[in-house]
Amino acid sequence: MTKNTMNKLQQITEESLLEIEQAKANGRLAIGFYCLYSPMEIAVAADAITLPLCGTRNEPIAAAEEILPRNLCPLIKSSFGFAASDTCPFFRFSDLIIGDTTCDGKKKMFELLSRYKTTHVLQLPQNQDAATSLPLWRYELERFKEIVEEQSGITITEQRLRAAIRLMNRKRIVRKAIMDLNKADPAPFSGSMLLELLFKVGFLADKEKGIALMEELVAEAGQGELSKQNDREMRPKRLLLTGVPVGLGSDKVVKIVEQCGGNVVAFENCSGYKQAFVIDEQKDPMDALAEQYLATPCSVMSPNSGRFDLLKEMIKEFAVDGVIDLTWQACHTYNIEAFRVEEFIRDTFDLPTLHLETDYAKSDTEQLRVRIEAYLEML
Ligand code: SF4
Ligand code: SF4
Repeated sequence: MTKNTMNKLQQITEESLLEIEQAKANGRLAIGFYCLYSPMEIAVAADAITLPLCGTRNEPIAAAEEILPRNLCPLIKSSFGFAASDTCPFFRFSDLIIGDTTCDGKKKMFELLSRYKTTHVLQLPQNQDAATSLPLWRYELERFKEIVEEQSGITITEQRLRAAIRLMNRKRIVRKAIMDLNKADPAPFSGSMLLELLFKVGFLADKEKGIALMEELVAEAGQGELSKQNDREMRPKRLLLTGVPVGLGSDKVVKIVEQCGGNVVAFENCSGYKQAFVIDEQKDPMDALAEQYLATPCSVMSPNSGRFDLLKEMIKEFAVDGVIDLTWQACHTYNIEAFRVEEFIRDTFDLPTLHLETDYAKSDTEQLRVRIEAYLEML
């Protein structure tokens, strides 16, 4: 990413906080989200501001542990800690919280979170069966739509919903185009740079600004501007990161990989390629949203065959040398699925996978470094 784009990103990120305050003062609703399964299009259709609230910082965890058990995933504790300590402006801005019944820890956390903010939890089915789970999920999205209508005072017409789907599709298409730039070898972005861009763009109240910035970046790449910055002497090992979501503050593995001479060129998790889908604009919009969101290949689904299809596609397309499968401590679904992920990658590509289990603290940094260094040497 050129310095100019980085500066612009910083500037629009700072402006966005003021824009949210202003928009709220003008009566716009702000809705906080905690999971990729909840369709933001429904909120966007009511002109609401959408705020991703999954906690990625270690600092609020101590406040969470006064209420929640310690042996819980750091993402859940960080998310709850931000609310309990009132230290997240985006949580403060949120008029309504949308959660989903994903893993046990998260869904029970929402019961306590509802003490701080009006919270609605979508009953997410546990599998993606078209005959049984899809109608249930479609019904849940209808309820979500009604709640947003009640809270915003705006009727979500089909026309509004279609416009929101078009906008969000444009955003996802350009996001994917950015991620796909790293299919080039050498990759134009370091993993931490890519993560910072995708993370910050997610918080922008004005989605058009984020889209314009990402389009500019894709155009820069087309003019060869990005590759000019990449005259490294050694080609870093190309890695794919799969598993739990990561963001600014929970990116230690991405950084250690870079310090050890590797590069995470692709993110399969829900901070990255799991969001690289488009909603079918020809179908009934609520049907299309229900189908596409339910298909999200997260380990909370059983079975979760979509993740293996995605891994197969990405390992080939990004021509990676290795795969790191990251699990947050106490995340049972990703932890158990790690066995099958390792087996699948070995059998399909004859590649070893490095499975890492950690949290947001820095205490195991050196242990992680030793394991990552050994893995990179082995590749
Ligand atoms: S990893 Fe799964 S449960 Fe967690 S935020 Fe992503 S989609 Fe939701
Ligand atoms: S990382 Fe695992 S335990 Fe944590 S919120 Fe996501 S699915 Fe739940």
